[in-house]
Amino acid sequence: MEKTLVLASNNKGKLREFQAMFGELGVEVINQGALGVGSCEEPFGTFLENGLAKARHAARETGRPAMADDSGICADALGGMPGVYSARFAGEPCDDDANNRLLVEKLREKNDRRAHYTCVLVAVRTPEDPEPLVAVGRWFGEIQDEPAGTGGFGYDPYFRLPEFGKTAAELTAEEKNGLSHRGQALRRMIEMIRESWGW
Ligand code: IMP
Repeated sequence: MEKTLVLASNNKGKLREFQAMFGELGVEVINQGALGVGSCEEPFGTFLENGLAKARHAARETGRPAMADDSGICADALGGMPGVYSARFAGEPCDDDANNRLLVEKLREKNDRRAHYTCVLVAVRTPEDPEPLVAVGRWFGEIQDEPAGTGGFGYDPYFRLPEFGKTAAELTAEEKNGLSHRGQALRRMIEMIRESWGW
């Protein structure tokens, strides 16, 4: 079987991370945008529901197996916000700088700076696939007030890893993939795809 997986995302940062990790397995990852598929609504309050909706949409529009990533950052002191709203925390159109400013602002008076990234990956062979594959990864850290580093994307310059004394944006791409919520979820997903789809 042809090992091509459509990625139900138009986020360049994520595509870069996925391509690097799937490349070693001989699985070609194609961004849905390259096949003329636009993004779908993400109306739900959970990563899982949004991920499933995005994966089904991409499989329906392309006729190929598809995988979606729904991810975000959850701050403990904010009851898990921004969570599924991470991309549009400061409103739309999505703006990383505005999102970062708002997150830092909301945490300014808080002692509890703990936060974690969550990634839920959902893969389907067809839009009606009765057995979607679901893999979850979490990456724990803290939010700092000032940015540091130029790698990664989104909230990475503010996401501090106490055990490394660095932010996620100060890691190399390889280091980030080895530790991140997305890297963890993807390694689990690759195992599931091998086992369940026989790839
Ligand atoms: P989604 O594309 O709807 O899943 O939105 C994910 C959003 O969560 C991104 O736009 C970022 O704001 C944030 N996010 C998820 N993963 C990361 C990461 O690895 N680094 C920085 N921000 C991330």
